[in-house]
Parts: sequence; structure tokens; C-alpha cells
Amino acid sequence: MTETLAIGTFSEVDETALEDDLGARIVDSLDVAAALNEETRGAVRAIAFKGHTRFDGALMDLFPALGLIANYGVGYDAINVADAQARGIAVTNTPDVLNDDVADLAVGMMIAQCRRMVQGDHHARSGAWANGQAFPLNRKMSGGRVGILGLGRIGREIADRLAAFKMELHYWSRSEKDTPGWTYHDDPASLARAVDFLVVALVGGPETESMVSAEVLDALGQEGVLVNISRGSTVDEGALLDRLEDGRLAGAALDVFCSEPELDPRFAALDNVVLQPHQGSGTHVTRAAMGKLQRDNIAAFMAGKPLLTQVA
Ligand code: NAP
Repeated sequence: MTETLAIGTFSEVDETALEDDLGARIVDSLDVAAALNEETRGAVRAIAFKGHTRFDGALMDLFPALGLIANYGVGYDAINVADAQARGIAVTNTPDVLNDDVADLAVGMMIAQCRRMVQGDHHARSGAWANGQAFPLNRKMSGGRVGILGLGRIGREIADRLAAFKMELHYWSRSEKDTPGWTYHDDPASLARAVDFLVVALVGGPETESMVSAEVLDALGQEGVLVNISRGSTVDEGALLDRLEDGRLAGAALDVFCSEPELDPRFAALDNVVLQPHQGSGTHVTRAAMGKLQRDNIAAFMAGKPLLTQVA
């Protein structure tokens, strides 16, 4: 009877390693896991979890021997950590190994938004350029003022990269950090008011829900560009769409959405947004490192050793 259950859609490499190294059984979804018979569920001590479906206490109770939920990804907001703690279930995630890729994508999206690279690609491919049509001038990014909302691991990597773009750095976090002279703001609206670009790198979950509110978006203003690589939940998406449509905000670059993978159809009609399919950590190298860290946590748990990256 397997002691490790893997829930989600894993790469072939991860599937093989889960099966070969941990003897894991793999199922597609929490629904399928919940429908396993009682004996199978009763043997499960560790779950390798991948996905964004809500994982609450009622589901945890279906696995009475469960001691670990090892999340694939640094953001573990889908897992009800309080419920896990109340049941003595540890939770791990996969921090740091994905910082570079997510930060690279954030900066890439900013440049793409300012320089209208998606439209430029279309202009070149479509023959418009060859037919003598000039591509409109666009916006300079280097040297601008940028605010990082959430100067954690990924936020810091984004800030470091943007410093190399000669940008003036501002940030908000729950407390002031040791930085090379970047300006701290003690509330998100004050941060937004001080900058031209606001990059959201917060955790998801109830505490940060709609932290980028209508008030924050209005403070960012009609020259402002919002960049979000965190979670769709951190932004009031309706307020964002209203402002992108009527010009109260200049633009946005988004890798995450409230109802992803479904997108509010209003996004597709906008010319001032760059949209990405939640691919921040989506490179071969980084996804392999995330899978390995997830499995290493499970192996440590099974061996009775300290967990590598425990969040609760
Ligand atoms: P992190 O180091 O924990 O940083 C998280 C930031 O959120 C910190 O600035 C932290 O504030 C802030 N924060 C945490 N709890 C908060 C609360 N209760 N209220 C307000 N702010 C709070 O996490 P990370 O590794 O940088 O990852 C950040 C997020 O990026 C993840 O949680 C995930 O949602 C997202 N992510 C997205 C992708 C993608 O593909 N787009 C990939 C990976 C991660 P302090 O600075 O005060 O601690």
C-alpha cells in the first residue's frame, strides 16, 4: 500500500521520480484522491500536491495517517494551513529555486508593455512594416520610478534587476528592510502614488486579498502601469479593468488572474495589457528543481529527518 500520494498533473520526469524514488501513486485531482477507497486513503502519510484547488480540513480528514502536504510551488495559499496545523500535518513549499525565472518574467513583461512588443511582433509579421507603415513610438522604461509591493524573495530579485535599469526603487513590506537606499512606504497607496510602475510580489490568500484596491490603482494614476506576478487575488480585478478601459490607468502586465485559467473576457479586448498564462516559474530547469525539492521534503519526512522548507 503506497504511503505517498501525488495529486495533480506532473511532468513525465516528475512522475517517474515520484513513482521510482517514493513509490508514489499519482492521481489527477483532489476529487479523484477523495474517491479512493478507505484502505488506500488510510495508508497515505505524505501528499505531493500540485495545483490551485482548495485543500481544506474536510479533505485532509479523509487521510487519517497524513503527516505532510508537500506543495509544488512557493505559493501555498490553496492549502488551508490552519486546518493542517490543527491536525498536526506539516506543510512544505518550494521557495527560492524559482526566484530568477519569476523575476525575469516580471521584468520582461514590463518591457513588453512599455515597448508594445506584442504589437511590434504583429507589425513585423503582418507586412505592415514592409508596406511602409511606421510603428508608433512608445514608452521608455529605464530610469522610471518603480514600486515593489511585497519585498520578499521574488520582490527582491525583481528590485535588483530593475536597479540595473537605472530605476528609482520604492517598496512596501510589513516592515522596513535593509536595502541599498530604496524608499520605504508604510502603506500601499503611498507607494503607488510615488511611482510609475507598481509590481505586485505579495503572497496570495485572505490577508492580501484586493490589497491593490481601487484606491491604490487611483494613486498609481493615469500614467501608471500595474505588473502582477503574485496571485490574481491580490488585485481588485474589476477595479483594474474599469481603469484600463477608461484610461485612468495606462496599462498592465499580468501573469495571474482571479479566475484563471479562465480570463475575464474584458482583458482580451484591451490593447494596453500584456497577458501571460501563469508561466512565471515555467522553465525546464526551474520546474525540475521545484519537483526535486518537493520530493526531497517527502523523502526527509519518511526518513524522520528535518523538513527542508517547512512553512507550517
Ligand atoms: P515571500 O518571500 O514569502 O514574500 C512574500 C511577500 O508577501 C513579502 O513581501 C511579505 O511581506 C508579503 N506578505 C506575506 N504575508 C503577508 C500578509 N499577511 N500581509 C501582507 N503581506 C504579506 O514569497 P516569494 O517567494 O517572494 O513569493 C511571493 C509570491 O509569488 C508567492 O506566494 C506566489 O503567490 C507568487 N508566485 C508566482 C509565480 C508565478 O508563476 N507567477 C511563481 C512563484 C511565486 P514581508 O516582506 O513583510 O515579509
